Amino acid sequence: MIEYDVAIVGGGCVGCSVAKHLAERSNLDVCILEKEYHLAEHQSGRNSGVLHPGFNYPPGSLKARFATAGTARLKEYARENGIPLREFGVVVVARDETEVARLDTLRAQADENGVETEIIGPDELAEREPHAEGVAALYCPEAASIDSQKYVYALATEVENLGIDFYLGHRVEKVRHGESGHVVETSGGSVSARYLVNAAGLYADRIAHQLGVGTEYQIVPFRGEYYELVPEKRYLCETMIYPTPDPELPFLGVHYTRRTDDKVIVGPNAVLAFGREAYRNTQFDLGEFAETLRYGGFRKLIASPKMIGVAWDELNKSYRKGKFVEASRRLVPDVREADFRRSFAGNRAQLVDEHGELVKDPLIERGPDSLHVLNIVSPGLTSSLPFGDYLAEQVLTDIDG
Ligand SMILES: Cc1cc2nc3c(=O)[nH]c(=O)nc-3n(C[C@H](O)[C@H](O)[C@H](O)COP(=O)(O)OP(=O)(O)OC[C@H]3O[C@@H](n4cnc5c(N)ncnc54)[C@H](O)[C@@H]3O)c2cc1C
Repeated sequence: MIEYDVAIVGGGCVGCSVAKHLAERSNLDVCILEKEYHLAEHQSGRNSGVLHPGFNYPPGSLKARFATAGTARLKEYARENGIPLREFGVVVVARDETEVARLDTLRAQADENGVETEIIGPDELAEREPHAEGVAALYCPEAASIDSQKYVYALATEVENLGIDFYLGHRVEKVRHGESGHVVETSGGSVSARYLVNAAGLYADRIAHQLGVGTEYQIVPFRGEYYELVPEKRYLCETMIYPTPDPELPFLGVHYTRRTDDKVIVGPNAVLAFGREAYRNTQFDLGEFAETLRYGGFRKLIASPKMIGVAWDELNKSYRKGKFVEASRRLVPDVREADFRRSFAGNRAQLVDEHGELVKDPLIERGPDSLHVLNIVSPGLTSSLPFGDYLAEQVLTDIDG
C-alpha cells in the first residue's frame, strides 16, 4: 500500500488549491484522489465562471474575506498561467426605489470590504448596457469572467509539477481511521495517509459522516440550469447584468454573464436535483433522491411557505422555457423566447442543517486527523486560492501539532 502524509479527496478547485499550498509550504508527501478520469467534471467546471469581488457578502464573513482576496489572486494567477480572463465588470440593476435602497446597502458593504463600486444612473447604465432596463445600478469594475475549466487544469498541472501524485479514476469508497492515520479504500486500490483532507464537493458529507464528522448536516444538490443567447443576439448583453439581490430569497435570480469565449449565458435557476450528479430533469438517482427526501433538515426546509413559493417558481422556470424567458426579460426586456437555447447545468453542493437552514458561509470541520470542507458554495471558485491557502495552514498546524 502506498503511504502518504496527506491524502486529499477531490480534485476540484478546492482540492487542487490545498495541494498547491501544501506543496509550496512543506515537504510532505501528498496525493489527490479523484473519482473522475477528467478534471472539472462537477462544480468547478459547471458554474458561471464569475469572479465575485465581494460587494454582496456581509463584512467580516469568511465569504467576504475569501472573495475579495480571491478575485485579486485569481486574476494574477490567470495572467501568469495564460488562463482566459475578461475583466468586464458587472452592473447590478435596480428596477424600483426599494431596489435602489438595497443598492445603497450593497455599496456600504462594498466599502467595508474594500471593493470599488459606484452607483450609476439610467444614462450611464444605458451607455454600459444599452439593453438593460433599470432606474439605477451598482457598477463594480472588479468583477470578471474566467474559464473555470482551464483554471482547474492549470492548477492540476502545477500541483503535479510540484511533486503531488494525482490519481484520476480513484473513487474513495471507505475511510478507516486507526492509530497511525487513515486507510483510504478507493476503486483503484488503497492508500494510507497520516492526514486526510476531504474536498469531495457534492459528496463531502458522505466522507465526513464516515469519520463521525458533520452528522448534523447533509448536502442537498440544487441544480442550476442555464440558457444561452443565440450568437446573433449576444449584443443584448455586453458584459454582466445582475438583478438586485433580495435578502429574503436564498438564491440570486437569473442573470446574464458574458463568458471568456463571448457566449452569453443566462441563469442559473435553482431546482432540486434528482441525484447529486443528475444534471437533467430526466436523470434520476433513486437512492440519492430518496436520501434527500428522507432527510429531516430537507423536509423542514421545504415546509416553510417562503420556500414552497420559491421552489414552485424555480420549477416553473425549469420545465417551461416561457417562464424562464419571462424572468430574464425583467433585466433585458428586448429578449424573446427564440433568442434562447438550452446550455449546460451545474449542481450546487448546498449544505442543509438538521433545522432546515441553508448553510451560507464556508464551513470547515476538523475530525480525527482530518479536515472536512462541508460547505463551499458560490463564490467558491473565486475564493479557491486564499481558501486553499487557509486550509493548508490548518493542516500544517494539525500535523506539526
Ligand atoms: C451552477 C453554479 C454556478 C456557480 N457560479 C459560480 C461563480 O460564478 N463564481 C464562483 O466563484 N463560484 C461559483 N459557483 C461555486 C463554485 O463552482 C464551487 O464553490 C466550487 O467549484 C467548489 O469546488 P470544489 O473543489 O469544492 O468542488 P468540486 O468541483 O465539485 O470538486 C469535488 C471533486 O471531488 C470529486 N469527488 C467526489 N466524491 C469523491 C470520492 N468519493 N472519491 C474521489 N473523488 C470524489 C468530484 O468528482 C469532484 O471532482 C457555482 C456553482 C454552481 C453549481
